[in-house]
Amino acid sequence: MSREIPYKIYLEEHEMPKQWYNVRADMKNKPAPLLNPATFQPMGYEDLRPVFCDELIRQELDDTTPYIDIPQEILDFYKMYRPSPLVRAYCLEKKLGTPAKIYYKFEGNNTSGSHKLNSAIAQAYYAKKQGLKGVTTETGAGQWGTALSMACAYLELDCQVYMVKCSYEQKPFRREVMRTYGAKVTPSPSETTEVGRKILAEHPGTSGSLGCAISEAVEAATHQEGYRYVLGSVLNQVLLHQTVIGLETKAALDKYGIVPDMIIGCAGGGSNLGGLISPFMGEKLRGEKDYRFIAVEPASCPSFTRGRFAYDYCDTGMVCPLAKMYTLGSGFIPSANHAGGLRYHGMSTILSQLYHDGLMEAVSVEQTSVFEAAEQFARVEGILPAPESSHAIKVAIDEALKCKETGEAKTIVFGLTGTGYFDMYAYEKFNNGVMTDSVPTDEELEKGFAGLPKVPGQ
Ligand SMILES: *Cc1c(COP(=O)(O)O)cnc(C)c1O
Repeated sequence: MSREIPYKIYLEEHEMPKQWYNVRADMKNKPAPLLNPATFQPMGYEDLRPVFCDELIRQELDDTTPYIDIPQEILDFYKMYRPSPLVRAYCLEKKLGTPAKIYYKFEGNNTSGSHKLNSAIAQAYYAKKQGLKGVTTETGAGQWGTALSMACAYLELDCQVYMVKCSYEQKPFRREVMRTYGAKVTPSPSETTEVGRKILAEHPGTSGSLGCAISEAVEAATHQEGYRYVLGSVLNQVLLHQTVIGLETKAALDKYGIVPDMIIGCAGGGSNLGGLISPFMGEKLRGEKDYRFIAVEPASCPSFTRGRFAYDYCDTGMVCPLAKMYTLGSGFIPSANHAGGLRYHGMSTILSQLYHDGLMEAVSVEQTSVFEAAEQFARVEGILPAPESSHAIKVAIDEALKCKETGEAKTIVFGLTGTGYFDMYAYEKFNNGVMTDSVPTDEELEKGFAGLPKVPGQ
């Protein structure tokens, strides 16, 4: 009875979601509240106002409203590059010789090259609506900074990006894309902030980290009238905005009566994975359906699989609120030879709670195997995947090969978060056979855990 499944399942414009889905509303165990890093007291709306936009704080703190309307202006922007296709990976299935049915939701069809634009436009919109002059942020590999600069250009907001210094130097084209959209890009750590000067004095010649750049961006926001800080991952609000990915995926699957057995995504701070799985997780939480959810992380930055579930700083400068999450400690910096992104020490508090409650699984994979999967995928499916996305490809292929052994025709859905055109140094290393793997030792991880804050009762 099943209709022939097309290569690409597109939704019509009118079938796009008009509300985001807030999975916290269906969670019995809610994610733990953010704490003030100085007093260890929960932070409420008023406490967060100097740093974040008002409406975004409401979304951050809302654990009960299941559906939140997407404002019309944001829907209109989404229409420029959404709905994104859900692709049946027929060519990959054939190449693998697997009975599994593989689908991927492709978020790389916009200039930022990733899913990050879904939240960037929402955050810029609420900043504009509040009458702010501009926003500050950090960027690592550059996708988030690019997405935010696109959204700010569209809404005529000032955009100041602190870019991790090694990326700033290694990815000059990313930087120029941001500047083309009008953003001011500063390599971090920099002399422009107090925290940057302090980090530079303590670690001269440092190539920077996301944690440092976050501290600088927060300081820049709080020291300028009419500015707020925005973040591209980890936060509940970001995960909420990214649920357009999962809602579209579900609508596309429902159109053809397809029920996935497992949903796989890469996890850096958890926003694409959380957005992809949310509507399905909601069904699982309400006892309506069951699915396997698999988070894939790099073996060199294994927050879920080897981290602690504890309150931790979100940034190196310890100026941000504390979040309870799976973490390697805010002082943890992945080995310099790690090229595959997903370098953040912590994880979304929502996903951390779900993982802690046994509702989802996590695996870690080494980067050479990730690039092998990326190459295999690129050669048959055509798309040159981002290294981050390729973590999900790797595990989707592994699961499809298990199906080949058992003869089970399982349905696998994974998130293909973006394209890898700005990651050619990493691909070059892989192609030259000089890419290496690095897995932190237990002793190295202990150093990170030693820096966890001593929160009473933890
Ligand atoms: C930022 C990014 C990720 C990781 O971020 P999450 O918040 O974990 O989704 C994954 N893939 C791409 C392409 C990215 O740009």
